[in-house]
Amino acid sequence: MIPQISQAPGLVQRVLDFLAALKQSGFNGDTATSYADRLTMATDNSIYQLLPDAVVFPRSTADVALIARLADEERFKALTFSPRGGGTGTNGQALNTGIVVDMSRYMNRILDINVEQGWVRVEAGVIKDQLNQYLRPFGYFFAPELSTSNRATLGGMINTDASGQGSLVYGKTSDHVLGLRAVLLGGDMIDTRVMPTPLAETIAQEDTPEGRIYHTVLNRCREQRALILEKFPKLNRFLTGYDLRHVLSDDLQTFDLTRILTGAEGTLAFITEARLDITPLPKVRRLVNVKYDSFDSALRN
Ligand SMILES: Cc1cc2nc3c(=O)[nH]c(=O)nc-3n(C[C@H](O)[C@H](O)[C@H](O)COP(=O)(O)OP(=O)(O)OC[C@H]3O[C@@H](n4cnc5c(N)ncnc54)[C@H](O)[C@@H]3O)c2cc1C
Repeated sequence: MIPQISQAPGLVQRVLDFLAALKQSGFNGDTATSYADRLTMATDNSIYQLLPDAVVFPRSTADVALIARLADEERFKALTFSPRGGGTGTNGQALNTGIVVDMSRYMNRILDINVEQGWVRVEAGVIKDQLNQYLRPFGYFFAPELSTSNRATLGGMINTDASGQGSLVYGKTSDHVLGLRAVLLGGDMIDTRVMPTPLAETIAQEDTPEGRIYHTVLNRCREQRALILEKFPKLNRFLTGYDLRHVLSDDLQTFDLTRILTGAEGTLAFITEARLDITPLPKVRRLVNVKYDSFDSALRN
């Protein structure tokens, strides 16, 4: 007799039905419900632990769209989903008692590069060091830095708007994202990029999921502009969350939906691809050692 792999504890029939329906719909990735698989996704770098019911590993944007389309069906509305990259997040954002969608196992291909125009296109599961290793022979690198660069994914970096060492010079992840491919609940796909505001207004009139999103975001950001400018802290790295401040440019001439997705912690869409700007490798590196007379004065500075 083949020993049964433990499904325990608490796996619900609806989850098994979802996974079966996913397979039937042509999903090419993997699904996992063993206790061991679920346990590996139950923690990240936070103090929390949440055991998911299942883990799915999509191979492509099409696979992610299948997940999102099925998730929107009435019979599966009670299920919850969290995208996950390297699982190095510090606030438990990738944890979920429902279904974890692991973007790192297969969606880790570097798709395209244009050195003349200074960009690279990647899947969301590409790891930051993997990308820089690829870019080095071209004389470029992806500039936003973070301590977990050997395992954090671009999808995770984009969704936490990561930054670290060197950020005074190079800024944060959102400063280097030119466009995103995102899958919405329901399975619709959108491609974001900076555009003249009149074009965004035209899209906002379309009776499509994308049009309705443009309509809401454009109107909300305009109507609440004064409040947003007053309340959002004027710091270089001011938040993880919905960056309503930068959706419209300061002169209001351009609109970029990308800015609302960067930092959204996976709450708005599954990011499947990103077009990122690349920076020439510095010829010289310098370390500046600033000495303070007290801890307090260092903090104040
Ligand atoms: C030792 C240590 C040092 C760290 N140092 C830094 C640092 O210097 N700077 C810094 O900014 N952070 C730092 N972090 C935090 C963490 O590494 C970053 O938040 C990183 O960007 C997370 O990437 P990840 O791939 O591990 O994402 P995960 O932890 O897997 O996910 C993070 C969030 O992104 C969402 N997400 C992931 N992929 C997608 C996707 N494809 N689509 C939609 N949503 C997605 C998840 O749902 C979750 O909300 C550190 C963490 C540790 C453990």
